[in-house]
Amino acid sequence: MAVTGPKTFGEWRIRAVMLFAAGLVAACVVLSSVPGRAAELTVVATIAQIGEPLGQIAGDRARVETLLGEGVDPHLYKPTRSDIAKVARANIVFWSGLNLEAQMAGLFERLSATKPVVAIAERVPVEHRIGLGDGAHDPHIWMDPSLWQIALQAAVDTLAEADPEGADAYRRRADAYFAQLDAVAAYTDRVVASIPAAARSMVTAHDAFAYFGRRYDLEVLGIQGISTESEAGLHRVEQLVDVLVDKRLPAVFVETSVSDRNLRALMEGAAARGHAVSIGGQLFSDAIGAPGTYEGTYIGMLDHNATAIARALGGKAPQGGMNGRLALIN
Ligand SMILES: [Zn+2]
Repeated sequence: MAVTGPKTFGEWRIRAVMLFAAGLVAACVVLSSVPGRAAELTVVATIAQIGEPLGQIAGDRARVETLLGEGVDPHLYKPTRSDIAKVARANIVFWSGLNLEAQMAGLFERLSATKPVVAIAERVPVEHRIGLGDGAHDPHIWMDPSLWQIALQAAVDTLAEADPEGADAYRRRADAYFAQLDAVAAYTDRVVASIPAAARSMVTAHDAFAYFGRRYDLEVLGIQGISTESEAGLHRVEQLVDVLVDKRLPAVFVETSVSDRNLRALMEGAAARGHAVSIGGQLFSDAIGAPGTYEGTYIGMLDHNATAIARALGGKAPQGGMNGRLALIN
């Protein structure tokens, strides 16, 4: 009688391991050939104005992780040990660039020798950027959703290149997302246009709103400069107290990622000269809101800012914003 089965326990074990391994291989082959299955693409973004939209656009084809959380200031942020491990493991890294994440530039420069590391704000053509002299440009481009769309498109192109099977899905979801961005830009046009001419100036903690001001025709005045790395001078505070008093501006704006200390000094300065100034709300300048909330999305952040600014400066905007979803407006 021919014996084909294993004769000893040792042989069983070997055979079982081989069968199990073959089964695993077969399972893997089946899984990877299922159409539409997520590619194992791991993407890391610095700020949520990049990571949150890309998470929506990537859908189930890539895992998008954002390093900087709610209220975190990208100008000052230093990468942690865990951030370094995450970007080392990622297939693709997206950051803003233009010196926004000043403390991370060295890390990304080294990393770019090994994988795509894309500074998406630097993909916005120079003629659309706001110059700061010496060849530098204002990095706060997400404040103008039409320009940020150009930056996000560069990221979408990179995803499509890295995962060609997903290219159509990325482009389809990007188009749908960009239509929503157009809608929030149109809403902002409308509500900011309703601010009376005499009040079309906004004072903020730092200079993050130049693109917003240019796009929506509003004067913007920051106490600190483009980066929060430099301290505000006393002279700047006095200058802005003059502006508040002379223009009888009703409100100044706090930012979630910057201390309100300087703004309090401004309000006290104006009050000492008989002009009461209120806080027109907390704006999302360099960081978006809490994860899982509407304000924790890039579109929610834009809606919140437009609505808060318009209402505080005497314009007309619904308390709930563009679609009634805002929760933090007074
Ligand atoms: Zn900033």
